[in-house]
Amino acid sequence: MNTYLKQLNEPQRAAVLQKDGPMIIIAGAGSGKTRVLTYRIAHLMQQGVDSFNILSLTFTNKAAREMKERIAGVVGHSEAKNLWMGTFHSVFARILRSEADRLGYPSNFTIYDTQDSVRLITAIIKEMNLDKDRYKPKQILSRISSFKNSLITVRAYFNNSDLQQADLEASRPRVGDIYKAYVERCFKSGAMDFDDLLLRTNELLTRFPEVLAKYQDRFRYIMVDEYQDTNHSQYLIVRALADRFQNICVVGDDSQSIYSFRGANINNILNFQKDYPDVKTFKLEQNYRSTSNIVEAANSVIDKNKTKLDKEVWTANDAGESIKIMRTISDGEEGRFVAQSIWENQMNHQLTNDSFAILYRTNAQSRAMEDALRKKDIKYKIYGGISFYQRKEIKDLLSYLRMLINPNDEEALKRIINYPARGIGATTIDKLAIAANHYNKSIFEILLNLDKVDLKINSGTKTKLENFVRMIQRFQIEAKTKNAFEIADLVVKNTQLVKDLQKDGTPEGVNKVENVQELLNGIKDFITDKIETGEDSSLAVFLEDVALATDFDSEKDDTPRVSLMTIHLSKGLEYPYVYIVGLEESLFPSAMSMNTRSELEEERRLFYVALTRAEKVAYLTYAQTRYRWGKLTDGEPSRFLEEIDEKYVEHIAPKAPEPSANRFIDASLFDDSPKRIRFQKPIQKKRQEFLAKKAKPAVVPPKGKMKKVSEVSAKANLFDGEIVVGNFVEHNRFGTGEVIALEGKGPNKKAEIKFSTVGKKKLLLQFAKLKVI
Ligand code: ATP
Ligand code: MG
Repeated sequence: MNTYLKQLNEPQRAAVLQKDGPMIIIAGAGSGKTRVLTYRIAHLMQQGVDSFNILSLTFTNKAAREMKERIAGVVGHSEAKNLWMGTFHSVFARILRSEADRLGYPSNFTIYDTQDSVRLITAIIKEMNLDKDRYKPKQILSRISSFKNSLITVRAYFNNSDLQQADLEASRPRVGDIYKAYVERCFKSGAMDFDDLLLRTNELLTRFPEVLAKYQDRFRYIMVDEYQDTNHSQYLIVRALADRFQNICVVGDDSQSIYSFRGANINNILNFQKDYPDVKTFKLEQNYRSTSNIVEAANSVIDKNKTKLDKEVWTANDAGESIKIMRTISDGEEGRFVAQSIWENQMNHQLTNDSFAILYRTNAQSRAMEDALRKKDIKYKIYGGISFYQRKEIKDLLSYLRMLINPNDEEALKRIINYPARGIGATTIDKLAIAANHYNKSIFEILLNLDKVDLKINSGTKTKLENFVRMIQRFQIEAKTKNAFEIADLVVKNTQLVKDLQKDGTPEGVNKVENVQELLNGIKDFITDKIETGEDSSLAVFLEDVALATDFDSEKDDTPRVSLMTIHLSKGLEYPYVYIVGLEESLFPSAMSMNTRSELEEERRLFYVALTRAEKVAYLTYAQTRYRWGKLTDGEPSRFLEEIDEKYVEHIAPKAPEPSANRFIDASLFDDSPKRIRFQKPIQKKRQEFLAKKAKPAVVPPKGKMKKVSEVSAKANLFDGEIVVGNFVEHNRFGTGEVIALEGKGPNKKAEIKFSTVGKKKLLLQFAKLKVI
């Protein structure tokens, strides 16, 4: 037997060996679905299937890259390289590029990211003189997105009285007009947004049977991971492509369907059998990822869902540690607890940062975590925040590059026509936009015909516009003979972009200059990579990669970091230690998803996804008070905590609790040192011994009888009370120092301490958390 087949259990192997016909693998988390897909591709190639004939669709491009690496290990790099693998968006963007002219698009069409789309919708709302509080651009975009993902075109919208009625009732009667204008403007700009990549692919495959036939013939074997989260548009593409050979293999877990708000349709998985009556169904039941405590705990929660397919998940792994539940006073303390716990686990088990992930329901929760990690000098990476490519300075430079490839790109043009400042004001740009609408041309086409269009601008402005056009055209000529890096470099040098940032002089300015430099380095790397693999290294391809890049794709340094992300993004991933934070009613489950059973069940699936990311230990935390929307709110523990079978749970309390005297005072306010002081070696050792001794939590009250945090803190204060002049003490951030004076009484007692690194400081004992050493 081939070695890779030996790395599979019996049902996994059966699924890999099943070569032809439709098949579905339905299985719980961590049971090897992704592994089976990967090995199946390798096996198909071993069986003589041409790598060009295999299409594999994954949830992220990073997942695709990792799968490719594995496959290359079996079949070699030169073969693996030909595989079509990636997200729906990246694979079909590539196909659309070669077929664009059929749809009236230039092959070098731009891909608008969400930021571009929102800006365009904002402009349209303004031009239509609509109230932007009633027509919120992001909401409108999400409505348009839902139309597109259900294949409702503008014409279909205007033929559908139900949809129009719904918008009318929501007091937004002009949604259809905005949709129409948005589609037209994108088209004129030679731009597709993310949803267009799917919508236009559907259009392509429906309108042009010869194109459909071509890709059906090419993709003789099709595989889809995370099938439970495909939307209608994706479903139709897959069904069309697989229609001829019917060699379609989808894998998924209905219990992990978490994207219905983006149009994902769990029925795609449930109805697979109806679509393909000959389907072979495989079930994988053994989980290889997690301890049995985690697997059982996750099972006990998901069991509460009514709508789910019948399936078991078990594991042969050890019981491992209990699931740890932790209550904290505030979100600040929650952050500090998590950071402290990560630090201790690292010390106790010799682990690097990349063994840890912090998962939360909403992006806003990352801040408290970040603050705490920074204070402890623990390196982290946030996924799903503002990505590198969306920073202003980067987007500005990219907009120049986009213009060279596609000068009709309206959003790019608007960003750079007056950046760096060249005296072209907002009024002029408005006039250009109006003319463009009037003549049904792009703004750049208007600029090329300034003599024929009466814009009512003075001759000075006209000259400035002409200069701008000449500059772009000069770059375009250069772009014909230069590679992507040389062009980007030329643009940076000739536009004063960096000079403008340097003038700024602030640390942020310096940071921006570095980012621009980083982008140039990135382009250089891109070219080297592509040349090595013999792929297209043009600027157009670079821009496409960038438009479709997720944070997972722009990792540049190899420093191990703690991963922070929303649960939605964590799908398919695994980490030894997982912290799920903010387990409070109204936050998780979200207040917006508690009204119907189906919404609540989706939240529960989300919790199931979160918990099943953990390999060894899962920590679940909740805060009694939390700042939300600028207000301090009281929190109740999430119902999901109750739903976990008690057998698998252990309640722990914070080890270095905050004083309870005033919960509105954040102890960290008293620490004004921005940097963490590194301890000298002997102290570091002592600290480790101390922590090792205390590896078990100090207070472990039984469930339901949590010790009040105030009792615990009283103890800590007693500890501080023992401090006398002459003691050597250790402080979280200031490091070690000698107590040289004491003053005041009770809660006002202060110590003057001479720290070896930061000098003398007076600290309130009740907040200072000093340790005598
Ligand atoms: P998810 O539902 O979270 O996407 P999955 O079903 O795709 O999970 P995988 O990610 O493929 O599961 O596998 C989970 C872990 O178990 C991985 O680390 C994988 O390498 C390991 N694994 C899977 N099958 C086996 C096996 N037969 N022997 C050893 N390890 C395995
Ligand atoms: Mg998977």
